[in-house]
Amino acid sequence: MDLRDLSPAYVRSIAPYQPGKPISELAREMGLDETKIVKLASNENPLGIGPRTRAAIEAAVRDLARYPDGNGFELKQALVRRYGVDMGQVVLGNGSNDVLELVSLAFLAPGTSAVMSQHAFAVYPLATQARGARSIVTPAKQFGHDLEAMAAAVAEDTKVVWVANPNNPTGTLAASDALEKFLRRVPEHVLVVIDEAYNEYLQADLRADTVKWLRRHANLVVTRTFSKAYGLAGLRVGYALAHASVADVLNRVRQPFNVNSVALVAAAAALDDMEFVARSYAENLRGMRQVEAGAKQLGLEWIPSYGNFITIRVGRAAEIYKRLLRRGVIVRPVGGGYELPEHLRVTIGTEAENERFLAALAASLKE
Ligand SMILES: *Cc1c(COP(=O)(O)O)cnc(C)c1O
Repeated sequence: MDLRDLSPAYVRSIAPYQPGKPISELAREMGLDETKIVKLASNENPLGIGPRTRAAIEAAVRDLARYPDGNGFELKQALVRRYGVDMGQVVLGNGSNDVLELVSLAFLAPGTSAVMSQHAFAVYPLATQARGARSIVTPAKQFGHDLEAMAAAVAEDTKVVWVANPNNPTGTLAASDALEKFLRRVPEHVLVVIDEAYNEYLQADLRADTVKWLRRHANLVVTRTFSKAYGLAGLRVGYALAHASVADVLNRVRQPFNVNSVALVAAAAALDDMEFVARSYAENLRGMRQVEAGAKQLGLEWIPSYGNFITIRVGRAAEIYKRLLRRGVIVRPVGGGYELPEHLRVTIGTEAENERFLAALAASLKE
């Protein structure tokens, strides 16, 4: 027998998440020097991590024989101080991806459904399907979420609506007033997850006041991460802010030590590394203009982005992706589940990395 058949059909039919190709893998496959490879495929922070964060990590490494604080007291306190919520409203995760999984584990099951947009972050359909729940996907509007269509798509059995703001891989942003209107429209027995992984890359006046909305909307779950602007993608820390009763259920399905000790300490320090986050924001903005100008010069269209990446229409994207790989540049194809077969998603890198990408792209288009 095929032992896979022991697993429920909804698990067997999951299409695995396709991460950006690791530098070491491309180096192995093509016999390239790792130091010559530019990876702009996973929306990582090209500046690395801040100085306070580095010092905190070095100190934390001395005590690895101990289990982490399963309650994450210090990090939760830091978040409580920053956002003015109660301790009981914070849920920590091994990356915000973990928190999204906790939502699906706690609230989705066979016979339920979740609403999401076309082109939305790939983890939503995966997490939904892994619980045997049904995905209701609404067509995108100018590559972004059509919030009216999403509210209208909520069914009898819907428990969760997933909203990425800004969205990955399109970089689109739903305006604050449209989001608020959407929240008023979704029934209060349906959870609305607003995934703000790129929040720190938004201009201050474009940020929705989601944390304040928690007081009015008990069904709202806000998720954030330390993987992007804080530069901690490798350590894996994210969190949800929610009503205490929602947070309570999420904490019941959480592994007791889901966030490791180094990550806990690093994230608390990173939260205070304000100067580093400000620099990451400024560098990203500058790089975004640089890549936009380069794309324009090549006669290409792109989707205006509010994140630390940009999705550019290159035509035969699968082929251009391979040509870029041969030139030692890794970007992210967004065909397949993302349904954008003519686009490539490119993370904004350092000035030199962006330059390398644009030169490789120009050559790949001509080849
Ligand atoms: C990167 C990303 C995340 C989370 O990444 P983690 O590293 O797991 O925190 C969540 N949502 C979106 C839309 C993302 O792009």
